[in-house]
Amino acid sequence: MQRAEGYKELFQGIDVPVKLADGSFKVPINFDNGATTPPFKYVCETIEEKIGMYGAVHRAGQKSIYSTESYEESKQKVLNFFGLKPEDGYCVIYTKNTTEGLNLLAHELCQKEGTKVLSTRMEHHANDLPWRKMAKVFYIEVDENGLLRLDELEEKLKNAAGSIQYVTLTGASNVTGYINPIHAVAQIVHQYGAKLIVDAAQLVAHYPIKIKGTRADENIDFLVFSAHKIYAPFGVGVVIAKKEYINESWPYVQGGGAVAAVFDDDVYFKDSPDKEEAGTPNYLGVIALSAALDMMTSVGMNQIVRHEQKLKNRMLAGLRGIPKVTLYGDPLYKARLGVISFNIEGMHHSLVNQLLAERGGIAVRNGCFCAQPYVARLLGVSDRERYEMMQQSQRPEPGMVRASLGLYNTEDEIDDFLEMIQEICGLKD
Ligand code: PLP
Repeated sequence: MQRAEGYKELFQGIDVPVKLADGSFKVPINFDNGATTPPFKYVCETIEEKIGMYGAVHRAGQKSIYSTESYEESKQKVLNFFGLKPEDGYCVIYTKNTTEGLNLLAHELCQKEGTKVLSTRMEHHANDLPWRKMAKVFYIEVDENGLLRLDELEEKLKNAAGSIQYVTLTGASNVTGYINPIHAVAQIVHQYGAKLIVDAAQLVAHYPIKIKGTRADENIDFLVFSAHKIYAPFGVGVVIAKKEYINESWPYVQGGGAVAAVFDDDVYFKDSPDKEEAGTPNYLGVIALSAALDMMTSVGMNQIVRHEQKLKNRMLAGLRGIPKVTLYGDPLYKARLGVISFNIEGMHHSLVNQLLAERGGIAVRNGCFCAQPYVARLLGVSDRERYEMMQQSQRPEPGMVRASLGLYNTEDEIDDFLEMIQEICGLKD
């Protein structure tokens, strides 16, 4: 079959053949973009160009000056990408990933004893556990399709009578791909005097995001994501924060570069974002992120959405037609990314993963995707049952298979995958 190349030529390292169980070799199909994404060629070329050129950021010397300029420029690029201007009052903080960014926010925003936070049962552990440690957390439930019970948002904020200070939710689920209406949520959150944090780890590469809504009360206050999920390598996370909301807190990481003055028994920190960036930053990672944003802008977010939605619809339609497949999440719900979770009747999710890899060179993920409370709800497994499973096997075993799509995937790849699923189901030789 002639393969439609689509956007493949923009990417590096995706065409190295893998060995299948029958000894043959095949160019692999990667449907694990929810975990991490391969780099754009342009990102690799940019790193290669800069690798001999860097010096420590915010220090003296020609290379340092050059590095500092491009480091600061990258922050402007991040702000531009999300439709922000310097006068909007937001700052960009670099961390090592989304997880560290959310930990940073939990530690800096919840320094007062008894801070109350409203979260959801749809979250990745990265946007759940840091808040549990630092605050009293309340949760918005999901319905039988795994959609957020948004009626509970207003109800819980109202019942708390202004005592909930922060609401944190995912921009898009890493299990069902549901896209949450972040601006509508922001409007309700602000009505009750709270601030909104959006975990955008899954959303940024696949959907255009503006931090400012059409009205001022719809603005997002904090947004967090990772470079390695937007076609740059590992090692850089981004926190975009309204500066005035974070400037007074004690920094999460402390050390050199973050301080204005250190006395024998006193410390004065710089303003945010410097206060949050103690230690030597990952300059090349930041440059890679910056190049990835350039590439996404050049392809165009609307083009990206169009392409990926077409792939998603093809995969969902195909899986719906296979009798032994159970899909999680409403397949007809429109606001979904190409993140599709399912199980095959009578087969453990790990076996499906293994067969797809060994027979088809197809990479997917299986398990709970670091979202155990959400996956348990979608599967209808109670905490008690999970505790019992844990006693028997050390680890709770329920889970699913997840196919998550990226820009370089093609319709032919979706068709290969669907054929392989039919074969695994015993519906095809
Ligand atoms: N939030 C969501 C929704 C995710 O999908 C992930 C990773 O899969 C994370 C947070 C954590 O991202 P990272 O591993 O880059 O810190």
